[in-house]
Amino acid sequence: MNIKILILGLSVVLLAVNGLQAKEDKEVITKGKYTLTLVNQDPSLNVAVKAGLIKTFFKVYPKMVKDFNKEATKRVLVTIDTTYNGVAYAHDGKITIASQWLEKKPGDMDVITHEGMHLVQAYPSGAGPGWLTEGIADYVRYAYGVDNASAGWALPDFDPKHRYDNSYRITARFLLWINQHYDKKFVHKMDSHMREKTYSKELWKTYTGKTLEDLWKEYSLNPLVKV
Ligand SMILES: [Zn+2]
Repeated sequence: MNIKILILGLSVVLLAVNGLQAKEDKEVITKGKYTLTLVNQDPSLNVAVKAGLIKTFFKVYPKMVKDFNKEATKRVLVTIDTTYNGVAYAHDGKITIASQWLEKKPGDMDVITHEGMHLVQAYPSGAGPGWLTEGIADYVRYAYGVDNASAGWALPDFDPKHRYDNSYRITARFLLWINQHYDKKFVHKMDSHMREKTYSKELWKTYTGKTLEDLWKEYSLNPLVKV
């Protein structure tokens, strides 16, 4: 083969490889029992944001597994997705985070705490109400998050317009209140019931002596929590 054609051919192959690398980079990091694979589709992602997500993952995920569900997956795939325009979602060992979100909120490292908790939860379908699933994930973000302040993330003050099933932070604050006033293992217990598919509305009464509605009424009259 003509040497010039060979070099030209090699250059084309190299260009193609470079093109692929520029589009998506993949990093596999193992620490102890845990392996994180991070696929980044966004070449303009701030390297500090990427490093922060990895650091946050290894700081919080093993703790959440230990405290909530030792059977949870030890191998997690995180994709920074350039086509997704929501915030993030997680299921079945995989977390997807929108690159647009990280661009807008580069301090939001604990998005991986909330989503990681969903992998730890690993609830079967029909486990219980979605608002409780999200409330528990945000309670855990509150309790285990490493830098919620930099994301401008905090539990909201109580508002009379709130309801227990408003989900996310509103439910999380109510769960915190129950933990502080009735049973400091309440969130852990509800999490187990959801995973074992033994959740029922009666459980609120089992652990607190009060129905869910009565608890919410009491909370709304005196919603103070120690934060
Ligand atoms: Zn969620």
